[in-house]
Amino acid sequence: MTTVLNRRSFLAGVLGTPWLANQLVEANTASACEPPPTLDIHVHLFGVGEGGTGCRIAKPVRESSVFRDLVDLLRLVEPGKTIDERYEEVLTEHVRGSGLSKVAILGQDAVYDGNGRPDWARTSFYVPNDYVFAVVARHCETMIACPSINPERADALNELARCHAKGARLLKIHPPTQGVNIADRKHIQFFRCCCELNMVVLVHTGHEHSAPVIDKHLAAPSRLELALDQGCTVVACHAGTGWITDTPDQLPDFVSLLKRYPKLWGDTAVLGTARRVRDFGRLLKFSPLPEEVELVRSRLLHGSDFPFPASPAAFGDRIGAAMALQLEGETNLLKKDFELKEALGIGRVSAQRSFVVANVC
Ligand SMILES: [Zn+2]
Repeated sequence: MTTVLNRRSFLAGVLGTPWLANQLVEANTASACEPPPTLDIHVHLFGVGEGGTGCRIAKPVRESSVFRDLVDLLRLVEPGKTIDERYEEVLTEHVRGSGLSKVAILGQDAVYDGNGRPDWARTSFYVPNDYVFAVVARHCETMIACPSINPERADALNELARCHAKGARLLKIHPPTQGVNIADRKHIQFFRCCCELNMVVLVHTGHEHSAPVIDKHLAAPSRLELALDQGCTVVACHAGTGWITDTPDQLPDFVSLLKRYPKLWGDTAVLGTARRVRDFGRLLKFSPLPEEVELVRSRLLHGSDFPFPASPAAFGDRIGAAMALQLEGETNLLKKDFELKEALGIGRVSAQRSFVVANVC
């Protein structure tokens, strides 16, 4: 009992919310001597559709420097293998050497028209949920599924139930690239069902720079209120951050929502990159008041945004030149991002928190 009580108070500190700490204690009492497991809650699956995966990447994206750089970085072109096969292979290698217990693999739904049918001409990239489940099934000891459901699709409720029945406990919505206004009250029923099924809703917030954006204002954190008001647990991906040149500044809105909604979290995906240094710093030291700093830090969940690589050198002022140099030499992208965030003081603790919030069992 003493062990359980000590563990409970330790976790309450880690998690920021006692009810969540209790949940983890119940789940892990049997393995009280092992270190708490860790999760990267934001890892992308991509493909071009070779080999019948169903994935799509629009021509302008395929021809972009971002895509070409990733193909080179990950060495996706290999004789006798499709790009999609190779991506899964590389992803698996990086997960294996990451130092994390598990990663959440994200799908990407399409844009939908006014009748709830896919609008492929406006869809920049697409990763079908069945492909997410197929990849996760091949690596179920280290991966969990995070399908993507655009609430605009005609069969959104059926797809939600289907994904839940297949074991998903997370789902992702990307409003600025999927062209969906999640604050529209017509989506109330969708979010009520998410709450009833205990599905954690990940939503992109802040400024997007890796894919074509239909409307940047759809990424405003204030639009999360409809889902939060239905009782959903919501993860604001990227915590409302952007580049120094981006307007409007969405980060303060994310922080003010945190104060009002205890079931709101923010993930740290892409925050290890050079152009997010300012906003990552603002998040970690948001206020001169220690209690406000602690509030924000206690609600951050570890996420990398793999395959987009972290840039430890950009954080040299904060982690020291020697550490930055050491991390720059790390070739495992998940490990590089995880260790950069650990050097910044929130890596492991936020990854343990991710594991609990994501309902991993
Ligand atoms: Zn992402």
